[in-house]
Amino acid sequence: MTLAHGREYLAIPGPSVMPDRVLQAMHRAAPNIYEGALADMVDAMIPDLKAVARTKHHAAIYICNGHGAWEAALTNVLSRGDRVLALCTGRFTHGWADVAVKLGAEVERLDFGNQGTVDHATFAEALAADKAHAIKAVLVAHVDTATSVRNDIKALRDILDKAGHPALLCVDCIASLACDTFEMDAWGVDVMISASQKGLMTPPGLGFVWFNDRADAAHARADMATLYWDWTPRSRPEFFYQYFGGTAPTHHLYGLREALTMIGEEGLENVWERHRRLAGAVWAAVAAWGQGGPLRFNVEDPALRTHAVTALSIGRENGKRLRNWLTENTGVTLGIGLGMYRRDDPEGDGFFRIGHMGHLNSHMVLGVLGSMEAGMTALGIDHGRGALEAAARACA
Ligand SMILES: *Cc1c(COP(=O)(O)O)cnc(C)c1O
Repeated sequence: MTLAHGREYLAIPGPSVMPDRVLQAMHRAAPNIYEGALADMVDAMIPDLKAVARTKHHAAIYICNGHGAWEAALTNVLSRGDRVLALCTGRFTHGWADVAVKLGAEVERLDFGNQGTVDHATFAEALAADKAHAIKAVLVAHVDTATSVRNDIKALRDILDKAGHPALLCVDCIASLACDTFEMDAWGVDVMISASQKGLMTPPGLGFVWFNDRADAAHARADMATLYWDWTPRSRPEFFYQYFGGTAPTHHLYGLREALTMIGEEGLENVWERHRRLAGAVWAAVAAWGQGGPLRFNVEDPALRTHAVTALSIGRENGKRLRNWLTENTGVTLGIGLGMYRRDDPEGDGFFRIGHMGHLNSHMVLGVLGSMEAGMTALGIDHGRGALEAAARACA
């Protein structure tokens, strides 16, 4: 006997929960991929895709996951031998930088560890040291999904401007788009990438690159560009199939259309605010549990945390035990501690993550938190009292 039967909740930071409306929109026969309803739908969807990024500039859709979007962004603006500065606050900008190395860029990494944001003074020094403006692009994750650190992108733009440095500001918003507040144009972001399976609530399989005219000017000089990843026909197609370099990802597009409609109905500001409130409920519970046991935030300062996912440590082995217990006994699956470890925990088993991105509401979050309390009780993991009351108050 187990209490896990019933609707499952995958509380990992992507793929996120897919709304029934998105799944139902995808449940249909194959459409014509040359003209007609699908082509009209995609033409009409592009403005909504730009709106979710808060940009008036250009958007390109790729059939790929986030790793593909990394490659798409880089190949469109870089030439072999170009210098790239990667601002690493966890795992993901390292991953993007690895792609840049393999493509033939000369990559310099500033590593800010796993518990904090980009150090602004260090970034300013690196720019000041580059008097010849050899750095062509700065890579940074808005939110690092492994550490749950959120960087201040507007501040990074201000530092570039103050230094008078022309490098393109390239931002990975795979975890943050439609979760944390993000303003591509107002914050001066040149290139932004995301993927379908997190805040956009659509199955994994679509990657996106948004870019402005400055980035497009760099594109004209970039020798890494390849026919398949080239963003020009994808962002200004003469024929429908040029959007996708071949067969359209038909059913993903129907799913995405519905997800963007849902975001539009709720209002993007309300989507951001819902994520902020629900993250607050998670944090209230964690803070109370931590008063009487080993549970700790990976990022101490709430102002530096994303509203999309929370990385936690709970003592060696306990992360894995708790995750397994929840999956087996409650129907909730928590995220693994991705690439996280401390000296006393070489396997990273003490880390785990709660995904709270996309299609979720207070009953789902309170359910996850109640399940975690049950798990800690069943496993004999010490924890402070009043966590669920604090979370409920945060949702009130
Ligand atoms: C999920 C994620 C990725 C990787 O996306 P995939 O679809 O798994 O390739 C990259 N960057 C960030 C910030 C992410 O959250």
